[in-house]
Amino acid sequence: MDTLDSIVIVSLFMWGSYFAFLLAISIRYRDYLTSQNQKLRKIDGILITFISIAVVLIIYQVFVSILKGLAKQCSVIVAVFLIILAFIFLRSHILNLKYRRAKVEGPYRLNDVTYYIRDIDTCEAWYDPRKREITITRGLINILNSGEIRFVIYHEEGHHRNIIHTMFAVLSIFIWALVLSIFLSLIAINMPTIDFILTEVAILLPILGIASLGVTLINWISEHEADLYASSKTSPFLAASTLLKIYLNPKTKIHIDFLISDPELKVRLNILFIMKILFINSMFKIPKSLTEIPEKPLIITHPPLTLRLYAILKNSRK
Ligand SMILES: [Zn+2]
Repeated sequence: MDTLDSIVIVSLFMWGSYFAFLLAISIRYRDYLTSQNQKLRKIDGILITFISIAVVLIIYQVFVSILKGLAKQCSVIVAVFLIILAFIFLRSHILNLKYRRAKVEGPYRLNDVTYYIRDIDTCEAWYDPRKREITITRGLINILNSGEIRFVIYHEEGHHRNIIHTMFAVLSIFIWALVLSIFLSLIAINMPTIDFILTEVAILLPILGIASLGVTLINWISEHEADLYASSKTSPFLAASTLLKIYLNPKTKIHIDFLISDPELKVRLNILFIMKILFINSMFKIPKSLTEIPEKPLIITHPPLTLRLYAILKNSRK
């Protein structure tokens, strides 16, 4: 058997693994979304998160061993890897500067929840697990009514309450950035040899796809859990109106065209549909996302609006 044959076989095996994982995780995710039993839903959510984080860690190990194997012959690879990694982290650091410079007001209280307002006109809210702090931007407060602001604060409180999901979401993005930077390093140092690049695309791309799929699901489950907590603290109606306002506001940079042209709005919730959006997300959107965080965080780490609404409304009908 020559090299080409073995590359084709390994490649088929890798793509087969990718689609097998896509099918398995889509079925679990559909069960999670359609579950009306709170306990079963929670267990499904934790199961998906644990399986995904294990898969992402294994793939990280695979990529590290490939990198080590090549590093013996070529120490340049380590330098390229470090440069790409530095670029990834520096870029988000620089983009975050304007957020850090904006004036902070507070602390304010909503029942037993403490939050801060950041005087910046973008529409965002976040929970910082290190400082255990909830922040909401002035821009978001300006487009929401008082009930909807409560939903947002409880959503962020939901990230605090579901700390396992939040920590794994942060961890998974960090590991995934490492995985992606190793992938890019391998391509960068092998630029002159087209054969090697083809091999990488055939074999390493589906492996990267599996990691991206895991990261997507870990983050989406974390968001659903926060949504469902906030919905139970406010109301499904407030949840739906808040999400619609946030998604449709031009300042969130998700243009209305994106939603309307989105096939997700027209299709019912079957496995093929879930597999399709997870495929698009893991193969195209997640790899593209390094250039989009933090400008468009909702597109990358958050489930599509339809699925968020679906989970909220499904859960409210008991
Ligand atoms: Zn969130």
